[in-house]
Amino acid sequence: MTISIIIPCFNEEEALPFFYNEIDRVAAELREEMLELIFIDDGSKDNTLEILKNLARQDNRVKYISFSRNFGKEAAIYAGLRAAKGEYAALMDADLQDPPSLLPEMYKAVTQEGYDSVATRRVTRKGEPPIRSFFARLFYRIMNRFSKTDLVDGARDYRLMNRKFIEALLSMQEYNRFSKGLFGWVGFKTKWIEFENVERIAGETKWSFIKLLIYAIEGIVAFSTAPLVFATLIGLVCCLFAFGSTAFIVMRKLLFDDPIQGWASTISISLFLGGVQLLCIGILGQYLAKTYLETKKRPIFIIGESNVEGM
Ligand code: UDP
Ligand code: MG
Repeated sequence: MTISIIIPCFNEEEALPFFYNEIDRVAAELREEMLELIFIDDGSKDNTLEILKNLARQDNRVKYISFSRNFGKEAAIYAGLRAAKGEYAALMDADLQDPPSLLPEMYKAVTQEGYDSVATRRVTRKGEPPIRSFFARLFYRIMNRFSKTDLVDGARDYRLMNRKFIEALLSMQEYNRFSKGLFGWVGFKTKWIEFENVERIAGETKWSFIKLLIYAIEGIVAFSTAPLVFATLIGLVCCLFAFGSTAFIVMRKLLFDDPIQGWASTISISLFLGGVQLLCIGILGQYLAKTYLETKKRPIFIIGESNVEGM
């Protein structure tokens, strides 16, 4: 049976040779199975594509798809799944942070233990900046509170899945893709495997703090409408408060002829309400923007060149 390994690569010239050696070693362990390595060059500016083409010349298991520009890891995952011909497909980072050595164990779970997919999570965040870990944890807490889709803290995109699972993912054609959520959304039986965090073998992380923050907001908008409920609730609370305080002032004037004085309090209340309104419009805008992008029905990625048939 064929296993398609999908590897998104963005400026990974330094890590790729290490990755290739390691996956080649693991492939030997899985020797009965055919392996297909689908590298997605996500608009790299370094020599990633040249390295991939060289590998493809020496090794016919190597396939590459090169995007016309950087479309992001989510688009790369989608392209890889579309190109995958295997009965099984695995997603894996190019920097060996997703240890290929776990593959045989994962493969056993889908072929012999009756699971549809095997997912991985890291139990430690060793080697990661503490502030990043803090916000990552916060994100998972918020998501699990407000979204029906289950998100596992520390879950990686590293995952092996069967054809049923792949087809389910492909059937979701949305433009704003948040894979961690999609994996949970499709359901099926998933086994979780835990491992210790591994640091990137070479090169640098491609995710800045800002990029991660935007990704987190996209994830929340894509998988929860709770912020809209939140906006409605603040509006409601403000209205009730305004109603109560107006009644209070009118009564005081009528009964004791004592109107409230002072403009400072008035100004701060108007500022506060102005802020709340802008916040809520902002929340609304996020959803509107996503809807706008979805309605354009733009392709999720555009291919520059590739050696995959039919892509
Ligand atoms: N990646 C990608 N497109 C991007 C950013 C990252 O294809 O725009 C790939 C990258 O090459 C790597 C994987 O996604 O294989 C994970 O990226 P990275 O290791 O930089 O993230 P981290 O592990 O630090 O979260
Ligand atoms: Mg990494």
